[in-house]
Amino acid sequence: MTKLIDGKQVAENLKVQIASSVKKLIALGITPGIAVILVGDDPASQIYVRNKQRAAEKLGIDSEVITFPATVSEEKILAKINGLNANPAIDAILVQSPLPDHIDEHHIQSAIAPEKDVDGFHAHNVGALFANSEGYYPMANTPRGIMTLLKEYVPDLTGKNALVIGRSILVGRPMMAMLNNANATVTLAHRHTKNLAQLVATADVIIVAVGKPHFLKMSAAKADAVVIDVGINRLEDGQLVGDVLDDMPDSEQLLTPVPGGVGPMTIATLMQTTIELAQQHSIFE
Ligand code: NAD
Repeated sequence: MTKLIDGKQVAENLKVQIASSVKKLIALGITPGIAVILVGDDPASQIYVRNKQRAAEKLGIDSEVITFPATVSEEKILAKINGLNANPAIDAILVQSPLPDHIDEHHIQSAIAPEKDVDGFHAHNVGALFANSEGYYPMANTPRGIMTLLKEYVPDLTGKNALVIGRSILVGRPMMAMLNNANATVTLAHRHTKNLAQLVATADVIIVAVGKPHFLKMSAAKADAVVIDVGINRLEDGQLVGDVLDDMPDSEQLLTPVPGGVGPMTIATLMQTTIELAQQHSIFE
């Protein structure tokens, strides 16, 4: 069995630190607050939002979920975001994706004040990440959580060959920037990449965010590769699997399990970003 990276444990450790930061903020009279906007009745989105709300409550972070029917107008959502931008009790604003087709996701993300943009999707924050700017700015939580996880297992990424498969704005692109900022040599592969097998065979660290069950076999990777499986795929029989197939008994490779790898890190990192935004707001109040 390939050695497993314990995302659950690293996420629990992170939550202990977050809980202590929340206590300190509350002692100063500041309760961190996150608002989550959920549009429509997609069951997976409902579960994600519930999990985020539960995590916030457990840590003493105020959470507000605002739901809209799938038929809601863009204007209505924008008006709500404007209200949340102006509300001092709210430090973090998140719009759960996907949004219905008639809503322009870019308009919505751009309307969130950059200093409350907990997902790090606003162009201002994306730009800061890609420029490797000094100072604090929120970053996309899934890749940031992966960086925290990697730190435990590959403390120094300098000069490592890192391969990111999938180039979404949610995972692949910010992942590329974060690995680059950590001085790895990064390759970003996508559906038009021609020599993927060759790239896989030479990578020290591989991040797979494609959304296809068993897309990558561990046997295709180096004997000491570290593989992060971001994929969450539901098979017809109801089983939850990632993008990676572990076909390497007794290997020295490292792999994140699904579930129990990247997922718990994403939620814990979202909470981490929320309290960091609250800390920033308390400094500038
Ligand atoms: P997406 O569909 O937006 O992007 C998928 C990417 O994969 C695209 O850039 C595409 O070019 C690439 N791709 C598709 N086929 C390919 C191929 N044959 N070769 C190389 N690249 C190919 O997906 P996403 O939002 O980035 O999510 C990816 C997966 O990660 C999904 O399963 C999603 O559910 C999961 N996810 C998990 C978490 C978590 O917290 N665990 C967070 C976000 C996304």
